[in-house]
Amino acid sequence: MENNRKQPNIIQKLKNIWAKISIYGIEDDASYIEKIRVRVLNQGIIIVLLIQSSVLLTHVFPFEFQGFLSRLIIIIVLLLLLELNKRKRHKTSRLALNIIMPLMILAIGITYGAKTGIQYNFLTFILTSFFFHEKLSTKLSLAFFNFSLFLFLKYYWTNYDSFMPLEVSSFFELVTFTITAAVIMSIMYIFLNQIEEYNRANKKLLKTLEHNNNKLKTANEELERFAYIASHDLKTPLRTIISFTGLLERDFKRNKLDSFPDYFNYVKEGAKQMDNLISSTLEYSKVKHEDNLNKEAVDLNIVVDNIKINLLQNYENNVIIEKNDLPIIWAEKGQMILLFQNLIENGLKYNKNENKSVHITSNSTPKRMLITIKDNGIGINKEYHEQIFNMFKRLHTSHEYEGTGLGLAICKKIVDRMNGRIWLESEEGKGTTFFIEFIID
Ligand code: ADP
Repeated sequence: MENNRKQPNIIQKLKNIWAKISIYGIEDDASYIEKIRVRVLNQGIIIVLLIQSSVLLTHVFPFEFQGFLSRLIIIIVLLLLLELNKRKRHKTSRLALNIIMPLMILAIGITYGAKTGIQYNFLTFILTSFFFHEKLSTKLSLAFFNFSLFLFLKYYWTNYDSFMPLEVSSFFELVTFTITAAVIMSIMYIFLNQIEEYNRANKKLLKTLEHNNNKLKTANEELERFAYIASHDLKTPLRTIISFTGLLERDFKRNKLDSFPDYFNYVKEGAKQMDNLISSTLEYSKVKHEDNLNKEAVDLNIVVDNIKINLLQNYENNVIIEKNDLPIIWAEKGQMILLFQNLIENGLKYNKNENKSVHITSNSTPKRMLITIKDNGIGINKEYHEQIFNMFKRLHTSHEYEGTGLGLAICKKIVDRMNGRIWLESEEGKGTTFFIEFIID
């Protein structure tokens, strides 16, 4: 039982050490690929250190001086490389890996002879020349350098005797080869793994970037459209004001004052329309994105009741605003008031019926919430069913019905920002039904 409990601790400890050494000397502001290089080198050194230490032990029992010394030198150099990494001397450590280590291997090879099987280490160095360096010229020169050392060692062994030839079996040679192959495979595995992780992180980043880019593009398009339409529509009442004040000035100079009340009226109307437009435009621009909403549980029954009280004050007794039991929605209260106020008000405004009525009903399932706002007003021709949600789109002049053409654009913006959908069914003279759908997550 005791052992069972201790085991995960030891594994955890080893994992922690592995993780700690893996990030030795990694700098926060380094490029991702550079971080991978440092990490792979750290991890590669740990693996080789473990292998070399085990081989070193085989030379302790029974003690075999030459083998012991050669492994010890390799271990010391590896520890030095790790220390260099820890001190963030990455370039030095990598150059040492691909220049000093191979020279050492060459020296060991020349000293102890072909039986050491040490020549296979050059394969690792040729491989790491490509992995650990950035410039192609450095990669190629180091790979060439290591390959030359390999050839030189082969040449030396064929033509000269070693100083202290080691007598080992061909089995030992096979072991050395297997170890070298294992190291190469491990380094490749770690490297490919890291690259895959890098690609995954990159893909995620790209997706976020693409998403933000699209958001920015939409916002930009919206802004452009907004600026164009707003300036265009604001100019209409301004033009009225300018032309009528011109007429006022002309008539004043001629001392003709009969049309003055009418002209003043037009100027006043124009100013009022501008005021409405500016207020609605401001309201439109204030509709925030979903991420920035202060959401709360909003009882739509209370929202509609309050709107009803306010609206009924402006109408005679011939108005009915009815609702069935409405849901509670997770939304920004101000936006819900704006949404229902615009739709209910339109139902009464665009209505020539003796008895004007607006019915609000809801039909929700666990997955979606559907709310309908149905009036018995003048109705809307099918060809305008999409257009009326555009900014400043009006189907009537200000003389027929007052308005700015922003009410439904505000409604659509609110619903869109909540990832919902708004549409309508209507025929001229037969009333209009607006539908709002929210997906419940
Ligand atoms: P506004 O009411 O300020 O003109 P809206 O964006 O609310 O702006 O409406 C755009 C146009 O859509 C209105 O000018 C009107 O012609 C038409 N409309 C909106 N709601 C209704 C409705 N319930 N019935 C008939 N027409 C409507």
